[in-house]
Amino acid sequence: MFIPATPKEMKELGWDSLDIIIVSGDTYIDSSYNGAAIIGHWLMKHGFKVGMIAQPRIDSDEDIGRLGEPDLFWSVTAGCVDSMVANYTPTNKFRKDDDFTPGGVNDRRPDRACIAYTNLIKKYHKGKPIVLGGVEASLRRFVHYDFWSDKLRRSILLDSKADIITYGMAELSNLRLAQHMRNGLDWRDIRGICYMSNEIPDGFFEAPSYEDCIASNDSFIRAFKLFYRNNDPITAKGVAQGHGNRFLIQNSPSETLSSEQLDEIYEMDFENAVHPFYLKDGQVKAMETIRNSVTILRGCYGECNFCAIALMQGRTVTSRSEDSIIREVKRISSKKGFNGYINDVGGPTANMYGIECPKKLRSGACQNKRCLYPSPCKELPIDHSRYEVLLDKIRKMPGIKKVSIASGIRYDMIVADKVHGDDFLRHLCEHHISGQMKIAPEHVCDDVLRYMGKPGRNILLEFKRRFDRINDELGKDQFLTYYLIAAHPGCHERHMEELSSFCRNYLKTNPEQVQIFTPTPSTISTLMYHTRRNWENTNNIKAEHSMQMKQKQKDIVLNSPHQRR
Ligand code: SF4
Repeated sequence: MFIPATPKEMKELGWDSLDIIIVSGDTYIDSSYNGAAIIGHWLMKHGFKVGMIAQPRIDSDEDIGRLGEPDLFWSVTAGCVDSMVANYTPTNKFRKDDDFTPGGVNDRRPDRACIAYTNLIKKYHKGKPIVLGGVEASLRRFVHYDFWSDKLRRSILLDSKADIITYGMAELSNLRLAQHMRNGLDWRDIRGICYMSNEIPDGFFEAPSYEDCIASNDSFIRAFKLFYRNNDPITAKGVAQGHGNRFLIQNSPSETLSSEQLDEIYEMDFENAVHPFYLKDGQVKAMETIRNSVTILRGCYGECNFCAIALMQGRTVTSRSEDSIIREVKRISSKKGFNGYINDVGGPTANMYGIECPKKLRSGACQNKRCLYPSPCKELPIDHSRYEVLLDKIRKMPGIKKVSIASGIRYDMIVADKVHGDDFLRHLCEHHISGQMKIAPEHVCDDVLRYMGKPGRNILLEFKRRFDRINDELGKDQFLTYYLIAAHPGCHERHMEELSSFCRNYLKTNPEQVQIFTPTPSTISTLMYHTRRNWENTNNIKAEHSMQMKQKQKDIVLNSPHQRR
């Protein structure tokens, strides 16, 4: 069922008022791919009355007042991505199109949506607490560099004047918050939340304050490291950060969900459709990819430095059970109009399915060691057979014509899987690729890769050799395409020249997709971009800030003489 979005739906359920009203910067897609819908269904499943207001007008009470006031709290999210990332390109141009807005025109999500919606609520509805959640709030919860204003900003909790942040994947924290508020209990010890306080709780770390971070890059780097390293549910402690005479308090993260909990969440009663109240304004492009896709895991231990997934979902991968996934595919394939094509069976990194480190599960992720960089850790039992069996089962289900994998694949893990790696790759090439497979080396120069936290070029070449050999054996004319990044911290024009020549001479390709690095909030790469320092040893590094020169780096690959021919 849909979460009520209109007074009529509330009436049909016999609800005079709501406990929680969710306000989102994306339209209301009722799907497990929409965090707002997950939180809404999850709270309803536990007995709370929830309503949904998507992309409200911010110049009137018309939308925000539609469902009345909640009895417990407002839950505000900017949407699936940070609103500034959604609204602007890496070269800071406004994006005209939006896949999460009916009709596809980007005219419904305000910049800094968490702040805009909190102001909107406070203007018309004073009184009830405002709880921020989602990517924008989570990654801006500490002092952070904001690319769009080119400065350090305070915690979004202060800038928005909201009351609480539920950070990361927030099913548990939202549920506990709702239960505590309903029962009139003190909620300040709930894991996975941030709030403001005049004092630091016992046992919490104190990070350099906003004022210290503004004054010195060394302080900002120290604060970031404390923030980054206290993100594991087993080992993390609470962290406080001064802002003026008050403190942002971050409790330790929520527990990692179990496989059973994940099954329960992803099998909730989603409509897998856009709510009719919003669909009347036009088709929503994101539905094309979401509709026939299945999430099979959460978390990522890839820790690419430019990516915030590990901060958002954690470094611990939890995989859903095969039975639960199969049930979801059955539901999808039995829907009227299903075309036989499953678009994705994945997650942040699809081939982490079923693969996790026993030591991490016992004692938490290592603080000073990475699971995949510079090469896969020996403690990680990389074995693709469970994922392969799952894909096989889905492929052979009645009504399924093809199962594709749109999610990222870590090719270094395939190379590292001595027993099943080749088998798995053969399986992908035979059944799950349609002409091309996209992989993400991002660069090929070791000088740049180490700042990205990505594996070296030899692994890429080894993977390409295997891919080409297997496709030859299968008699298939399939090829690799590559995601590449220009102007990442540490990247000079000479590195782009080298990348361009490597692509031509070794990868035998003329890349058409090169992205300019976007310094999104709270990634390691963004820290290096702002401070122009290597985050590990604080040595100075190149970080291209000029838009013109960033474009030049990109054009070196796109407009190479070979490309122009
Ligand atoms: S032992 Fe290795 S795989 Fe396990 S958490 Fe540490 S770095 Fe990751």
